[in-house]
Amino acid sequence: MIKPLLQGLALTLKYYFRPDKVITMQYPDEKWTTYPRFRGLHELQRDENGKEKCVACGLCSTVCPAECIDLEGDENEQGERFAKTYEINMLRCIFCGYCEEVCPEEAIFLRQGYELASQEKNQIYNKEKLLVPLKKKK
Ligand code: SF4
Ligand code: SF4
Repeated sequence: MIKPLLQGLALTLKYYFRPDKVITMQYPDEKWTTYPRFRGLHELQRDENGKEKCVACGLCSTVCPAECIDLEGDENEQGERFAKTYEINMLRCIFCGYCEEVCPEEAIFLRQGYELASQEKNQIYNKEKLLVPLKKKK
C-alpha cells in the first residue's frame, strides 16, 4: 500500500525540480497554438471578388447532428442565391466539422478560434460574426 504512495511522491518530486518541463500555461497572457487541423470557430467565406460563397442550399443545416444551424435563403437581382440569415447556436455546436465537409461551395470552414467562453446567455453567432470581412481595396 505504501509503494503506490511513494511512486506518486517520486513522480511529483521529479516534475517539481524540472521547471523547464512546466506544462501549465499562464492563460490569457500566453496563448495556445492550435494544431493546423483544429476545429474552432466557424468562418463563412467570400470568393476572390468579395461575394459570399454560401448559396443557402441548407446541406450544412441538414447534416448538423446538433441541429444548431439556422439559415434563410434569398436571391439577388441576378437570380443568385445567398444566405439572407445564417446563424449557429454555439451552445449546441459540438465542433464535429460535418458542416464544413458537406458544403459544396467550400463556404464554411472551422478555423483556429477557440476563445468562445462568455457570460452571455445568448450564444447565437450570426453572419456579422461568422462572415469574413471584406478585404480593403489597395
Ligand atoms: S461543427 Fe458540427 S455541430 Fe457544429 S455547426 Fe457544424 S455540423 Fe453542426
Ligand atoms: S454553408 Fe455551404 S452547405 Fe451550408 S447552406 Fe451555405 S452553401 Fe450550403
